[in-house]
Amino acid sequence: MKILISVYLLLGAALCQFFSAYFYAKGRISYRKAFSFLLLCLSVYLFGSLMIINSDNLQEMIFWNQIQYLGLPFISVLWLVVALIYTRTIYTLKNRTALLLFVVPVITFFIRLTNPWHHLFYTSFEATQAFGINTMLMERGFWYYVNISYTILCLLLTIVIYLLGYLKNRAGDTRNHFVITFFASLFTLIGIMLLLFTLDDQGIDYTALIIPVSLLTISYGIIKHDFLEIRTLARDTIFENNIAGMVILGPGGRIIDFNKAARDFFGKLNISLDNYPLERILDRELELLEIFKSKGDADYAVVINGEKHIFEIDTVLLGNNQDGNMKMLKSIRDVTEERKIREELKVLATTDSLSGLCNRTEFVSLAQRELARAKKHNGELSLLMMDLDSFKHINDTYGHMAGDVVIREIGNLIKSSFRKTNIVGRLGGDEFAVLLKNTSLPEAKKAAEQFRTTVAETKVIIGEQEIGLTISIGAAAKSENDDSSSIEDILRKADDALYEAKAKGRNCVVIWDDGMEDAATAIDESLPV
Ligand code: GH3
Ligand code: MG
Repeated sequence: MKILISVYLLLGAALCQFFSAYFYAKGRISYRKAFSFLLLCLSVYLFGSLMIINSDNLQEMIFWNQIQYLGLPFISVLWLVVALIYTRTIYTLKNRTALLLFVVPVITFFIRLTNPWHHLFYTSFEATQAFGINTMLMERGFWYYVNISYTILCLLLTIVIYLLGYLKNRAGDTRNHFVITFFASLFTLIGIMLLLFTLDDQGIDYTALIIPVSLLTISYGIIKHDFLEIRTLARDTIFENNIAGMVILGPGGRIIDFNKAARDFFGKLNISLDNYPLERILDRELELLEIFKSKGDADYAVVINGEKHIFEIDTVLLGNNQDGNMKMLKSIRDVTEERKIREELKVLATTDSLSGLCNRTEFVSLAQRELARAKKHNGELSLLMMDLDSFKHINDTYGHMAGDVVIREIGNLIKSSFRKTNIVGRLGGDEFAVLLKNTSLPEAKKAAEQFRTTVAETKVIIGEQEIGLTISIGAAAKSENDDSSSIEDILRKADDALYEAKAKGRNCVVIWDDGMEDAATAIDESLPV
């Protein structure tokens, strides 16, 4: 019998040690760490029990009982902590809660340690035998009852927490976990109750006998139902290792959890995250505080080590927020590079690489927007269409490369000759356009004339050569009080005027008038269908 119980206790202690190490190694989440400590305390306790029944004299038994109390006072409270965190009743064990929960166990620890001086825990020991096994009878002192009451209270609370967890959760898997943890806690409680009511008679430590059963129950849960879930582990790992910083905010703007990337982000701003409300943590970063308090998404620009960074801070609301207690997940992503690339791509997609002016698509799109604005405010708007004269000749004489240089020079000339607020573009080949904001047709003609002169006076130098240029310009404007005209209409009119300028002998400015429309129609009609 003794051998059987010894093997049983030894196995129990070994199992506890094994799982304790296992969960400590795997345990990043608070409840797994608490579970690991719980198992460690249990193993100390079981080993003590094993040694007691194998002791030869009372002195040895008292010694091993003392060893048991290195772990025993903390078992029930750790059991409760695991339940609290596992069921998400609390998220992490805060210092204040820990102090409150552990005050009785810590006092018990010291009282038992110093018992020979005051006998507050046990008043006397007596060696006895039960079923042929060495046991001990103890007279209990005052603090023993305080401790056992607290132990029972913790286990009762644990049972209630798991029971509520079971009732609240609909998902089958989670329910199974709660059933297992519920029974494991219940077994332990029964053991303690038996100990309390029967120790006087035989000195049998029922708790030590029952705990391995609880352990087996939990082990069964781990194997059968993946008790300390891989799913949770996976989610936790994704959360912790996500490249986006993540902060979970609870009611009252309290930081409930955050991952490594979030810690790094705040670390760069010399802010340490803890359990205080946001107002306190971000009291020096008011912009960030506003962003974190709001339900929306926002960008946050900040200079770190002399470099400007842009962070995208998005919000996901968690749970039911109707009670006014906002719970949300804030994700923080450094989008500096992404934004830079997006900017570069935008420039590439909208700019003509040779002249540095807007390309046709961008020019038309910006011009459309400007026309809409002009219509809305009844403002004036003119457009110049410009084409280099005899450009083919330049290409043919000096080469295509020289032609490119000319186009680049004209681009620069356009940029420096017209107001920055105007829209300038290369529509293709040697054709350019300028949209003049708040400009009437006569004013546009003046500007065009000036530019034509500038071009005519410009010499593009290529190697030893000086290339002279001229340009022809057609001008048109948004018709007054005519909201129906589109940018395509104005472009077409300016193009007609440009055609006229070329016809007139080039190097001149022509303003569109109604006659051109008639002429254009006449030409259209004379063309064979
Ligand atoms: P016009 O006075 O009637 O405008 O005569 P033009 O010789 O300038 O004739 P047009 O405007 O029709 O011809 C434009 C020429 O520009 C045709 C093409 O070979 C040349 N071209 C178009 N794109 C480029 C370019 O990117 N680089 C160079 N070097 N030449 C180009
Ligand atoms: Mg040309």
